[in-house]
Amino acid sequence: MNHFNLSCLTLTLMLGMSACTESINSVADNQVDTASTPKSEAIEAQRLSDIVKVLASDEFEGRAPGGPGEVKTIAYLVDQFESLGLEPGGTNGTWTHAVPLIHTQLAHDGNVSVSVGDVSQILQQGVDVAVSTVRAVEAVEIDAAPLVFVGFGANAPERGWDDYGDIDLNGKVAIFLVNDPDFSAKVDEPVAGRFGNKRMTYYGRWAYKYEEAARRGALAALVIHEDKAAGYGWSVASSAPGDQFALAGTSGPLPPLLQGWLHYDAANALFAAAGLDLVEQRRLARSDDFTAFELPHVSLNASFNVDLEKIQSQNVLARLPGSTQADETLMVSSHWDAYGQGEPDLQGRTVRPGANDDALGTAGVIELARVLKAGPPMARSVVFAVWTAEESGLLGSAAYAMNPIYPLYSTVANFTLDILQTAGPSRDVILVGEGQSDLEADLRRAAALQSRVVTPENLPENGLFFRADHFSLARQGVPVLLLMGIAGGADLLEGGRAAGDQWIADYTDNCYHQTCDAWSADWDLRGAVEDIELFHTILRDLGDSTRWPQLKSSSEFSAIRAESEMQRAMAPPN
Ligand SMILES: [Zn+2]
Repeated sequence: MNHFNLSCLTLTLMLGMSACTESINSVADNQVDTASTPKSEAIEAQRLSDIVKVLASDEFEGRAPGGPGEVKTIAYLVDQFESLGLEPGGTNGTWTHAVPLIHTQLAHDGNVSVSVGDVSQILQQGVDVAVSTVRAVEAVEIDAAPLVFVGFGANAPERGWDDYGDIDLNGKVAIFLVNDPDFSAKVDEPVAGRFGNKRMTYYGRWAYKYEEAARRGALAALVIHEDKAAGYGWSVASSAPGDQFALAGTSGPLPPLLQGWLHYDAANALFAAAGLDLVEQRRLARSDDFTAFELPHVSLNASFNVDLEKIQSQNVLARLPGSTQADETLMVSSHWDAYGQGEPDLQGRTVRPGANDDALGTAGVIELARVLKAGPPMARSVVFAVWTAEESGLLGSAAYAMNPIYPLYSTVANFTLDILQTAGPSRDVILVGEGQSDLEADLRRAAALQSRVVTPENLPENGLFFRADHFSLARQGVPVLLLMGIAGGADLLEGGRAAGDQWIADYTDNCYHQTCDAWSADWDLRGAVEDIELFHTILRDLGDSTRWPQLKSSSEFSAIRAESEMQRAMAPPN
């Protein structure tokens, strides 16, 4: 049975949810007067601002998945797409696609400890470790599980690299180094360049490491935290220890029972107690001779009760059908969720409205729907997908990619908007994840039409390419472009790159995921409009084309796309 196809009615009966159709009327005050929808074929800054002002209002309570803010958000989005004259693009002719989630919280009085010989040491949650569970369990109990150091934990046959050899991880705890084997390599080391140099490959992401641990049956997985290699500090890594969202009822290997970060100092002490030098072990792990090994006489215990909650959430999908190649799909995406409510800030605000992240991207998606509908019909179809639970781990988009409504082999490309800068027009647009697909050339051509240029992101080692919803599709081989306003300072017409960098610093230091990410009448959306117009140009171009953008051979996912191209060749025409 398809877990994602529960109808609205079924959910109402099963869960007593008051969501679904009747709730659409409850936000009538927020509905945009359809008679005033502009007919222009240009993205309008005022419309972007108006939409964000609604979605980021207190009434939407920070748009937490599963909460009252979700009901209002879904109703608002459906109303927007419907009033633009789009078709429902979700499951079985509805506007939505169900995303069943679990939320787990490890009890604060639980504990995790390591033993070396007969000396046992508690690892304090939030200080020495930041661990959680993505399994739908009532308790986590681990009794004297052996620890295996797997180095960077990469199994990359296309790069001639395998950190595992014959090691068996069943029932054991895998300990990983963060980032790629060549992240801190010097130019004369043999490993240099094997994993994209400074650019992080997917093998460097914790998500990959947990997946590899799951494939190998590991009971737990810990990644040793290092500020630079992780791309963020311990305070971010440990900000909500024990608190986790995950997709419910997925197929595939069972994830580790316990997973998370191990503080560098705690790892260092543990290795030292086992008679090993962590710095030396990290050096050895940078060689393709490295093979995982069990730490001698070391074991891990854990005991936590789990507060387990089931949540029913929804993606929203709308479709603009193509005229002659309707089964070929272009996707435009953003995420509707934000961080809900939290502790009061200095001004007493509790709602974290996610105005820029990602109400503004969502407004961009709605504006793209409007301008594409207002213009001449296109041969190919466009699906507008507004995902849930991005902030909980790209979960809405992942649920879709695992169970797509429109086959991924006939999905031409995905275009994702997630955070746009609000500091005015710029001479360039920032490219995230260079080296993935020839859509990068499309972006250059579209930018040139605006007399702008493309600048690669400034910190490719941070792996931003793996940290937004487009990645759920990218990893299944779909060519993608992401516009993300915090990927590198834009070269602003007023103030140049220094001003662009300053805007990012102000936003990420003060507002990102906080109460301060609020709508403002002072935003200068001219740069955001230009960025959204880039997607508009590329969508129009591909919408009337027979071209299938290709992944580059340097992409980790080119083999997957090659497979889906064979599926496309074999698919019956309709
Ligand atoms: Zn976002």
